Amino acid sequence: MSDVIIIGGGAAGMMAAYGAALCGHNVLLLERNEKLGKKLYITGKGRCNLTNASDLDTLFASFVRNSKFLYSSIYAFDNQAVMQLMEDYGLKLKTERGNRVFPLSDHSSDVIKTFHKILKNYQVEICYNTKVTKLLISNQQVTGVEALCNGKKKVWNAHSVILAAGGCSYPVTGSDGQAYELAAQAGHTVLEPKPSLVPLEVKEAYIKEMQGLSLKNVSVVLKKGKRELFQGFGEMLFTHFGVSGPLILSASAVANDAIYHGETQLLIDLKPALTKEQLDKRICRDFQENPNRAFKNVIGKLLPAKMISVIIELSGIDPDKQVNSITKEERLDLVELLKAFPCTITGTRGFQEAVITRGGVSVKEVNPSTMESKIVKNLHFAGEILDVDALTGGFNLQIAWSTGYLAGISISDVQRLGIEYCQQS
Ligand SMILES: Cc1cc2nc3c(=O)[nH]c(=O)nc-3n(C[C@H](O)[C@H](O)[C@H](O)COP(=O)(O)OP(=O)(O)OC[C@H]3O[C@@H](n4cnc5c(N)ncnc54)[C@H](O)[C@@H]3O)c2cc1C
Repeated sequence: MSDVIIIGGGAAGMMAAYGAALCGHNVLLLERNEKLGKKLYITGKGRCNLTNASDLDTLFASFVRNSKFLYSSIYAFDNQAVMQLMEDYGLKLKTERGNRVFPLSDHSSDVIKTFHKILKNYQVEICYNTKVTKLLISNQQVTGVEALCNGKKKVWNAHSVILAAGGCSYPVTGSDGQAYELAAQAGHTVLEPKPSLVPLEVKEAYIKEMQGLSLKNVSVVLKKGKRELFQGFGEMLFTHFGVSGPLILSASAVANDAIYHGETQLLIDLKPALTKEQLDKRICRDFQENPNRAFKNVIGKLLPAKMISVIIELSGIDPDKQVNSITKEERLDLVELLKAFPCTITGTRGFQEAVITRGGVSVKEVNPSTMESKIVKNLHFAGEILDVDALTGGFNLQIAWSTGYLAGISISDVQRLGIEYCQQS
């Protein structure tokens, strides 16, 4: 007999199951995969950056969309609470650069094992290979779910349902966006899901020549016309299709929807520590030290090897020209190029490569204090299915933990109807 059905055994669903069971509810967790936490397993490159140990101001500043909506859930179950719960169940943690928290073992599977312990301790029932296909709703109140369980149709009635079925990113892990249909079926507005924290595609063919090159300590500006969409400093990478790496993923998350529509301009400052004047002086010095050498042989002092031919081509300077005959104008154009290396962004990569989904269930129709639907009674939401997202650094999983926990502990008093289970052919 159960009171609460949770749809989705990812981060948010497992935490919701814990929260609801902690409050004394009988919980049934339905997961379409053959195991829990398939996406959690691949997080943090298999190490699971499960939260971030920064103060709460930093946490809220790292939430990109609808951070105010997250106030109650974060205060209900913050990063310290997550770490405490893990440690209470024997998972040792460590904190790395940027306050990113990982299991000491560096194995995401240990986080999943910890949840198995927690859910077992609270006698949460789990049904695998069970894909919920329909919410049962009567008089604007949820009454249960219909699902395909090992290929057979099943119906469970329940007092409350928590929809924690994730977004669209990395669909092979089970979150393929189908659950938005369940939310829409309940009358919820679903803001168009789009890939976020995702690499960007670049138009210029010269990008391919730099494939594999990683740049540390560069700053970038992403613009649409004159409008600045993102500005940041850090590490990025050239790929066969365009640009990736932490700085670019952040740009994709922070920039507004303009990155999905038409072209935007990415300008890379390859020498952010130097002003244009300082860079010009530096180049002059290099030129003066080697006045009779060819441009192509001197420029190498300033740049990584994979960029040299590209910069030479874009500078328009003859690679064999002796540097003492390079004009001031040519030199100043070179400075401009190094301070604003241009890439035309034609769009983002797809959901297969996106760390997170932008968009989802509109938070306007969800009570932030309980995660309950404002449209259908006793239906709650948690995790990435909601229109909330954050930067990398453990913040997205924190959203899943916090919203999951709050949804779980907010299940209203259950009249012990329990779950009625019936099988249909
Ligand atoms: C490659 C990668 C690395 C990442 N690394 C990090 C990181 O290190 N730190 C961080 O904070 N965030 C990271 N993230 C983001 C993080 O994984 C997500 O924010 C988080 O998993 C969202 O949790 P969720 O429970 O809402 O969704 P999910 O984890 O996607 O879980 C949803 C679950 O619901 C199940 N489901 C879907 N539909 C149904 C249905 N109809 N019936 C039954 N079950 C269903 C799915 O199978 C899935 O198990 C990463 C994401 C990716 C893709």
